[in-house]
Amino acid sequence: MTRAVVSIRDVSHYYREGSDRHQILFGISAEIEPGEIVILTGPSGSGKTTLLTLIGALRSVQEGSLQVLDRELREGDESTLADIRQQIGYIFQSHNLLEALTARENVEVALQLKPGLTKEVLAAKSTAALQAVGLGARLNAHPSELSGGQRQRVAIARALVTDPELLLADEPTASLDKHSGREVMDLLQQLAKERGVAVILVTHDTRILDIADRILTLEDGRLSSLMNSVATNAQHMLAMVAREMRSGNLATRMSAMDREEFLSLVDTVTQETQGLLELVDVIQDDTFRTAQEQFVVAFTSKIGELLRADDARLYFVDHNGKSIWSLLRTEDNSYIEVSIPYAGGIIGHVAQSGQAVNTGDATSLEWYDPQIDSHFPGSQLCVPVIDSHGNVFAVIQLAEKENAIMFDEADEGQLREFTNTCALVLESWWRMGCTCRAGGVGRAAECCDN
Ligand code: ADP
Ligand code: MG
Repeated sequence: MTRAVVSIRDVSHYYREGSDRHQILFGISAEIEPGEIVILTGPSGSGKTTLLTLIGALRSVQEGSLQVLDRELREGDESTLADIRQQIGYIFQSHNLLEALTARENVEVALQLKPGLTKEVLAAKSTAALQAVGLGARLNAHPSELSGGQRQRVAIARALVTDPELLLADEPTASLDKHSGREVMDLLQQLAKERGVAVILVTHDTRILDIADRILTLEDGRLSSLMNSVATNAQHMLAMVAREMRSGNLATRMSAMDREEFLSLVDTVTQETQGLLELVDVIQDDTFRTAQEQFVVAFTSKIGELLRADDARLYFVDHNGKSIWSLLRTEDNSYIEVSIPYAGGIIGHVAQSGQAVNTGDATSLEWYDPQIDSHFPGSQLCVPVIDSHGNVFAVIQLAEKENAIMFDEADEGQLREFTNTCALVLESWWRMGCTCRAGGVGRAAECCDN
């Protein structure tokens, strides 16, 4: 277990004294891991800045325990706090640059607290930091000569030039337009990940939630209710998947993962999807439906790859509508829906019997139908996916095991394991989205009428 960069235990905070005393934070507990990007969100006045300034050793801890970089802040004397502040990078809403200084001099200011650096080292470090944020050509510009986004990038360079392990940012996009806000946050995310810097970022800008590894929500001074977090996290997941989708690289990223990373991703998605099941409104969102198509296809091909199958497909089964269909990715990265007959063929058999099929020669099976199954005549492993009511709602098909051998028992065991792990995610998406496209049933069908 790695040590946390920030460890908050039961922290409460009050403003004003005596009868006027007003509680702002109520028993906050959280941990931030090294290199983790955490977004702290919540309505205005909920206590975000108060919590962030406590973590940043910019105000004193009154109640509870707060450890930053292994040092306890509660009861810490001024020199301890000053010492900790030097190990943290800060970015504020307005950039807080000194107008009289150039971009490079502004970055140097952060280094001047570090003793023993020569002028040349100061210049070299601040130049490199500005180059890292893409401002190598504007070293001598004054803040007034830079755009809002550029000024905020200078602020990022200033925050990172000291190589902090922790970066705190309070509403860093608040004074930026949508486009520059996005750019600055992408840059922040990239640099933080490259350098392994943990980031706590306060924002109520929902458009940038996707850069977070995790989201904490404050409401009236409390880390908020499960349901609210679920809504925020669902939004986060959608934003993240939608973004990967826009850049067309979800499949590539998933395909580069090893087994552990992949299972952990699936686990994360499962947890978030559990909450998502409750969110009826989400189904109306086009982004969601397209994202889910991406996930299903990427997920299926990843399983195929892990089990060394030449081809892998996931079929959704609608017993009421007597239809079976699958999504295929086309060469231009769009998705088409392919229907196969409900009765007959290998997939139809698995869908109706609930029995897996594992064969080295598909043509030898009594359910083999040359009209339907001829593209995979060799080895095949088909496993039913069971929904929470015990019914088959999907079938995973792996075909043509590498080296022209048969899938073995271990393959079948692994495929069932993956399938069980992912069943909840697949089921919810099947219910909310795919049913809709197939002219499906119940609540989901309503959105087809739109
Ligand atoms: P947020 O950053 O989420 O908008 P803040 O932490 O700034 O919230 O403020 C939380 C609450 O504490 C607000 O009601 C605010 O009015 C109050 N508050 C903030 N700073 C002070 C202060 N220095 N003295 C008294 N009340 C304060
Ligand atoms: Mg604030």
